Amino acid sequence: MKDYFRPDLAGKQPSEINVPVRKHMLCLNESCLDPYQAIKADFLQRMESIRLNRYLSPVTEELHTRLAAYAGLDKARIVWGNGADDLLYHIFLAVRWDDNAFAVSLAPSYFDYKTFCGMVGLKIRFVDLQEDLSFDTREYLRLASDPDCRLAILCNPNNPTGNLFSPEQLSLIVETLPDKLVLIDETYHEFSGATFASELDLHPNLILIRSFSKAFSGAGLRFGYALSREENIHSLRKVLTTFHTSILNQAFALTILENSTLFQAHVRDVISMRDSMQGRLQELPGVRVFPSHTNFLTFSVGDDTAALFEHLKDHEVAVRDVRAHPLLRDCLRLTIGCEEDNRAFMSALETFLTNRQQA
Ligand code: PMP
Repeated sequence: MKDYFRPDLAGKQPSEINVPVRKHMLCLNESCLDPYQAIKADFLQRMESIRLNRYLSPVTEELHTRLAAYAGLDKARIVWGNGADDLLYHIFLAVRWDDNAFAVSLAPSYFDYKTFCGMVGLKIRFVDLQEDLSFDTREYLRLASDPDCRLAILCNPNNPTGNLFSPEQLSLIVETLPDKLVLIDETYHEFSGATFASELDLHPNLILIRSFSKAFSGAGLRFGYALSREENIHSLRKVLTTFHTSILNQAFALTILENSTLFQAHVRDVISMRDSMQGRLQELPGVRVFPSHTNFLTFSVGDDTAALFEHLKDHEVAVRDVRAHPLLRDCLRLTIGCEEDNRAFMSALETFLTNRQQA
């Protein structure tokens, strides 16, 4: 049969969400707080003033003003999209010069950089993290200095390792590559307190990506935004369609921002649960856990990690298998959920470890 699509798509698969559905969903770094339940009255009131038969709504302007105030930047330096993923995709599209163009990223890092690069035909090369989760600046700069490199990606804090890179190292990369767009993915920044927003004035090549999926609990909402200098945002908007995000997304994102203290309190709860879970995991025999600046913990129980994954599944707990990269060859990633989810995980893990000791 005739294939009407780009030849390089022939060997690819459509995006699929390949995670088990279980009672305790601790596999996608989602929030356990449903924002609709939390701010329903405000959202429904907001919807009263919205006409879904119209393309335009005053909500857009209000959201722009609110988001700019939240980010501490001028409106012209912000653009939003349907989640951080959508912005990543469009940035990749906008820097895809020609067939030789490539991006540089770290490995392991957010898996979908590779997926989205593949979708737009942008190549991607990786610099491996070392055992201590740091990376070699010289190696990164060597790859990124290639004339065909059009984008340098850094995920900070990094998913799935949970660590922050040193601000000096990241600054050095941004400074040394003035001719390349440097993207810092700050999807988890609210759990770390670290951001490069104050560096945006210093570096015209810097662009930050943020998300409402984690700290603002809105994974299903699909809302994310990019921050950069005005000219970069202007260029990025050239690859976005006119009515790119739904008025529903915008209305909900605005309602979230109006209630931001509620979500910020939840972030503080998640951080404290994460730290106490990390402490407990560290004390268990044969368990190794990475320190985390995110809403998840990456950990290992050694050679039995695959068996633990199945055991957790049988106990209605879904975690993420992140064993694909050699550095995490025996690791799973656990999202911090609500108390009940975390308890279910701990109890299933403890049973597993007791059984292992007795075997
Ligand atoms: N970047 C990173 C590092 C992520 O972990 C994720 C989602 N897990 C995203 C981007 C995508 O976020 P969103 O839901 O806003 O598309």
